[in-house]
Amino acid sequence: MDEKQLLENVNTVYKKISHAAMRAGRSPDGIRLIAVTKTVSADSVKTAVEIGLREFGENRVQEAQKKISDPGLQLKNRSVLWHLVGHLQKNKARVAVNLFDLIQSIDSVALAEEVDRHAEKSGKRQRILLQVKLSYEESKYGILKKNIKDMLARISGYQNLQVEGLMTIPPFNDDTEKVRPFFAELRELRNSLELSGYSLPELSMGMSHDYEVAIEEGATMVRVGTALFGERNT
Ligand SMILES: *Cc1c(COP(=O)(O)O)cnc(C)c1O
Repeated sequence: MDEKQLLENVNTVYKKISHAAMRAGRSPDGIRLIAVTKTVSADSVKTAVEIGLREFGENRVQEAQKKISDPGLQLKNRSVLWHLVGHLQKNKARVAVNLFDLIQSIDSVALAEEVDRHAEKSGKRQRILLQVKLSYEESKYGILKKNIKDMLARISGYQNLQVEGLMTIPPFNDDTEKVRPFFAELRELRNSLELSGYSLPELSMGMSHDYEVAIEEGATMVRVGTALFGERNT
């Protein structure tokens, strides 16, 4: 991707992040931009690193593996962090533990157990988020709200996992005000779990079309693809 265009996009997104944070009386320092690079070439990721982006999200293990091991990117790998934001199958847990700094899509006890097992083998404490399904029909993956406390209790014994917070993918709506209640719901869920003694500082919510609203509702990580790299041609 053209460096000038990307730089312009990055500046625009950072500006909007700052403004949304200000509207909410928050510091922009509390919000991390995760550049979602699915379908984006390793060369473009390299350009993004040169510009100064440091956190990247991928939704497929195999695609991420190719990109992360790209020689050009390896050279540029100055403290770059990789996030898995897409569904993880148990049989890919080992590879995912080797690749990702933060796995945002843990959606079952069985998957958590598998990730814990591989993290132990790698001598790693794997940072994870729990993916929550707030709307029953629209999103395929995620833990139902009513099951999340039970899940937290069950995985709290896994020594090689560090649960840092919650992630959600609300149903798409052009009218971002219609998405706002989902973001508020995730924040309220987090707050109520913290009252029960769990520490869940991170809220990963908001994508290109709705990250400003997500920030107003408390997002600490926004996952932005299109607004940085342009439309994906899949
Ligand atoms: C693709 C993707 C994003 C980024 O979506 P954009 O609309 O391009 O910003 C964010 N989160 C997840 C889980 C994704 O799969």
